[in-house]
Amino acid sequence: MENSLLKNYKKKIKLLNKYNKFYYQNQNPLVSDKKYDELKSEILELEKKYSLSNSKSPSVKVGYKPSKKFEKFKHKVKMLSLANAFTKEDLINFQKKNINFLALNKNYEFEYNVEPKIDGISASLNYKNGKFVRGLSRGDGEEGEDITENLKTIKDIPLNISHKDFPEEIDIRGEVFIENNDFKKIENDFANPRNAASGSLRQKDPKKTELIPLKFIAYTFGFSSSMKSNKQSDFIKNLNKWGFKTSELNKKIKGIDNLINYHSDLEKKRFRLNYDIDGIVYKVNEFILQKRLGFMATAPRWAIAHKFSANYSITKIIDIDIQVGRTGALTPVAKVKPVNIGGVIVSNATLHNEDEIIRKDIRIGDTVKIERAGDVIPHVIAVDKKLRSLKSKKYIFPDKCPSCGSKTIKDYNSVTKKVDAVRRCSNEGFGCEKISIEKLKHFVSKDALNIEGLGKKVIEKFWDLKFIKYPDDIFNLDFQKISRLEGWGRQSAENLKNSINKSKKIKLDKFIYSLGIRHIGQENAKLISEFLGDYPSFVELKDQNKIEELSNIDGIGDTQTSSLKNFFNNKLNIKVISSLSEILIIEKNILKKKDGVFFNKILMFTGKLNDISRAEAKSIVENNGGKIVSNVSKKLDYLITGDKPTLRKVKMANDLKVKILNQLDFEKISKLRQ
Ligand code: NAD
Repeated sequence: MENSLLKNYKKKIKLLNKYNKFYYQNQNPLVSDKKYDELKSEILELEKKYSLSNSKSPSVKVGYKPSKKFEKFKHKVKMLSLANAFTKEDLINFQKKNINFLALNKNYEFEYNVEPKIDGISASLNYKNGKFVRGLSRGDGEEGEDITENLKTIKDIPLNISHKDFPEEIDIRGEVFIENNDFKKIENDFANPRNAASGSLRQKDPKKTELIPLKFIAYTFGFSSSMKSNKQSDFIKNLNKWGFKTSELNKKIKGIDNLINYHSDLEKKRFRLNYDIDGIVYKVNEFILQKRLGFMATAPRWAIAHKFSANYSITKIIDIDIQVGRTGALTPVAKVKPVNIGGVIVSNATLHNEDEIIRKDIRIGDTVKIERAGDVIPHVIAVDKKLRSLKSKKYIFPDKCPSCGSKTIKDYNSVTKKVDAVRRCSNEGFGCEKISIEKLKHFVSKDALNIEGLGKKVIEKFWDLKFIKYPDDIFNLDFQKISRLEGWGRQSAENLKNSINKSKKIKLDKFIYSLGIRHIGQENAKLISEFLGDYPSFVELKDQNKIEELSNIDGIGDTQTSSLKNFFNNKLNIKVISSLSEILIIEKNILKKKDGVFFNKILMFTGKLNDISRAEAKSIVENNGGKIVSNVSKKLDYLITGDKPTLRKVKMANDLKVKILNQLDFEKISKLRQ
């Protein structure tokens, strides 16, 4: 038991160090920061609970060892990380511990120098006699990578300082980062600005670093041959005097409540900054107290990083875009000023539907709180109406489809007796460009034709190039032309051709499903194809009476039949399926059972059955070759009655001379009973 605990502990550390390598050295995180932080706390928890320790544990190590790409040098004074706080309680504990450590009066109020925690990477710049001589990355805190030449390309870093106050030798430390508008130019190469800054700073060729405009903000020192300041805030003033940029958001604050107010203020404003900050650092301002408090294994005792939430952020709605889905559903999407939520840049957030916009009174220009947690699509959770401009106007949902201009409608749901929350394009067919693209994506998707190599992006590209408009165009593609497209080639065009050819043989249920008819998913497509048997019977649904017959199928109701009627009422749809039928080999769905006591018989149940569920009864009928329907009609062979049958159904069956059996008869026929 003990052994497996230790094994598990070591395994977690190994995994964490793997994440560190990808994050710090390759700028290519394997997991989200949240996942990383969870694993880290699991390790710390195990150490606390079972008094474990390991030289590679995050409780004693920061960052990751320097890359072999660079020469490495020892930091004269270690470069550590920062302890984190998320709640008021964390801050109270931080302050209490320090008061106890220094044996101060319990009501003592520290003065803090409060600084934004810029989300970049730190660097230590060694100056000798006013000359910038060597710049190191943090590395593992003890040794850093020599990135002097790259740092020299950053305009904010002075190469020579002639001020008389400037110490003979000093390591100036600060954050290298990239501003958001510069990040936009390279956002396809990196997940977020921090990775971009780290990637461009830690590369071998300074010429490449120079191409990306990096910035530097100074905030502390490592080794210093002399120190004239008594406080962090004074040192920052000196940094300015010496020619370094410092943050305009630095401030002196006393009292936990005031820290929290500043934190929530900045959290609201941070989307307006031109660079990412992921929290605020509170530093005990007096150097004498800092010195007495000293350091823990990986962080100073005298500072703490009050992080912003990794799950939500505040930002502004720049516009509202209406997206049109495959079934015509109009989904409003808020285009927001990009914000970094837990390491992921979010610039779109779903607003779900028209009702949601009305309920929350969401408007263009609003300041909103956006949540992005786990795999859920980012969405707007609240509007800050206090920050709303007086000129702001209510958002009016379009009454015309933004893609094809058709009228938009809201369906009435006869089951819930409510009007649908979702507004739709009334076109619902290939006549609407946006619906058509989505239908094409659905047509080739895994559960439909399953055409490998024809993903969503490729469909969009082929559509833009006017290679495809309707599903049958997929089978008339010009592969010569495709092979000449950027990113393609003979082999990939050939592969696509093969997978398209392979998809031509298709079962009727998959074919029905691939058409993307609203309310006809995989399950319903299967039921319909089993009922109809073959493709010619499917085309006969052009006749609306034939569609009515489908309501005999257990599971197919008014919603499905009226959707099928809409589909078959559309001439373009009929044209598409008839062209497809000439290209595809649509195979019959083989019925599960070709014999049995109910072979070719149609049965229906009414009333409650004893000791047997409807699902089991259905499976007995199907295993005996029969079909279950949900309406009484001439075609019905048996009506099986349980307890309290619907009398109207029994009467109808009687009138139509349908054989009526009770549960006992049914069980006898199906040999459930002797
Ligand atoms: P950190 O980034 O949380 O805090 C320390 C850093 O803050 C310093 O090194 C410095 O660069 C920076 N900083 C900015 N402004 C500052 C200021 N005014 N004063 C002092 N420092 C300032 O700590 P860390 O150890 O570099 O990294 C831990 C973070 O990185 C965690 O949040 C973790 O989630 C993330 N991480 C993620 C992965 C992953 O795979 N996703 C891997 C490793 C680390």
